[in-house]
Amino acid sequence: MHHPTPETTLKDTFGYEAFRGNQKEIIDHLIEGGDALVLMPTGGGKSLCYQIPGLLRQGTAVVVSPLIALMQDQVEALRQNGVKAGSLNSALTQGSALQMERAMVQGELDLVYVAPERLMTPRFQDLLSQTHVSLFAIDEAHCVSQWGHDFRPEYMQLAILAERFPQVPRIALTATADPIVREEMAERLHLTQAKRFVSSFDRPNIRYRIVVKNNPKKQLQDFIEREHDEDSGIVYCLSRKKVESTAAWLSDRGYTALPYHAGLPQDVRAENQRRFITEDQVIIVATVAFGMGIDKPDVRFVAHLDLPKNLESYYQETGRAGRDGLPADAWMAYSLGDAVFLRQMLDSSDGNETFKRIQHQKLNAMLGFCEITGCRRQALLTYFGETLDTPCGNCDTCLEPIDTWEGTTEAQKALSCVYRTGQRFGAGHLINVLLGKITEKVEGCGHENVSTFGIGKDRSDSEWRSVYRQLVAAGLLSVEAQTGGFRLNERSMPVLKGQEQVLFRKDPTPARKGTKSAKR
Ligand code: ADP
Ligand code: ZN
Repeated sequence: MHHPTPETTLKDTFGYEAFRGNQKEIIDHLIEGGDALVLMPTGGGKSLCYQIPGLLRQGTAVVVSPLIALMQDQVEALRQNGVKAGSLNSALTQGSALQMERAMVQGELDLVYVAPERLMTPRFQDLLSQTHVSLFAIDEAHCVSQWGHDFRPEYMQLAILAERFPQVPRIALTATADPIVREEMAERLHLTQAKRFVSSFDRPNIRYRIVVKNNPKKQLQDFIEREHDEDSGIVYCLSRKKVESTAAWLSDRGYTALPYHAGLPQDVRAENQRRFITEDQVIIVATVAFGMGIDKPDVRFVAHLDLPKNLESYYQETGRAGRDGLPADAWMAYSLGDAVFLRQMLDSSDGNETFKRIQHQKLNAMLGFCEITGCRRQALLTYFGETLDTPCGNCDTCLEPIDTWEGTTEAQKALSCVYRTGQRFGAGHLINVLLGKITEKVEGCGHENVSTFGIGKDRSDSEWRSVYRQLVAAGLLSVEAQTGGFRLNERSMPVLKGQEQVLFRKDPTPARKGTKSAKR
């Protein structure tokens, strides 16, 4: 009989014809006993990178995975393919855990999935020393990073594996694109010497679009109706309340829209998740609590009703669309309110100065991405250290090029209105002053007498809103953490003094039925 090879295993055990991307290189490297750091986008096919070496190397592969549900799915799928696999986690009864442990020590398993907290217990470490371990795989390895969004303290201890089992190859895998998180990961897991395998993070089938939010639920409904009337999708909202109300709104309009957030009872969450995965045409409306480890290939759209706090989150969340490679949409509605809210949150959060500085940079990148006039995909990939030579042709700014307008005078008017009214108001009031509207608040503050009263009558309410949004997004105007009111900063000055020009993006008018971006 011939020895199985990666190729025959791929075919005979998993039923696939060819390796994707750099799967083969990674597998060969591991089989030869090397350590690996694998950076591959969601859906890229990370699992095979340790599953095949696990089958081909002598002994049992130990896979560390943070999510019990994911673990169980994988083990189930492996067993169906005839692989001797098991998992050890808190969901098992003591009896079946004991049985699994025995099988592991006796070398009856090719792959064992373990939760990180279990792996580090003295008991399990003892079992490991009696087991012939073929390799350690650390899935979702970014969980070790405190800068990341999924920090798991148990992951910190995984570095011990390098010391205790120096001869056993280790592979850490993540879909994280953030360079800071990647470095921290390599260091904390003692994998700085490991060979790195970096795949492109481009998801060419995902069409990126960001619209200016004015009536979010209606805009969302229009988007779904126009382009995804019979599809599965995920809608992300920031708050639990908004999750509930959005799910209700869509349900009232005939969609199967299910809520998902950490405040719902465990069984409801599990049931909604199950329905989303197994049924067709289900929309899940969720907070960011939803999604990690969800492997549903035919999610046709991911919609954001609120802005994620950085591009890493945006990339990760939108990346849940179109894992099957077919066309999918990443659609987001964004407004001045989002920009103000996120700036405010950041300023009032605790954390040391370095942390805040990094978060500020990340938020600036996120806001800049929203306001960009060039190709969104190019910008996204550039942020993650990749280059895309030509505009993608599959994002809103490529499909409908954005005009800009010279707005130095408008910027000056908007900024001086902030100054003249005492640097404590938000956009609503400031715009009323600019438009020369007499409201109770205007009168109450005597703002009909300031020099900027009525100097902006030549522009509409929504144009001024766009001006303020872009000033806040660009950091030319600061937001008071306590009140959300605007105040000038050192970057406002050159604009006010006419030393710096300001170019604004012209927000496109919303797409109507039958326009370019209509149903494919
Ligand atoms: P990741 O963990 O990187 O998000 P998975 O390992 O879950 O990705 O793989 C995503 C999907 O692609 C799975 O359905 C998997 O079976 C499939 N897949 C992986 N590698 C291949 C391949 N070489 N050929 C065909 N399908 C593959
Ligand atoms: Zn583009």
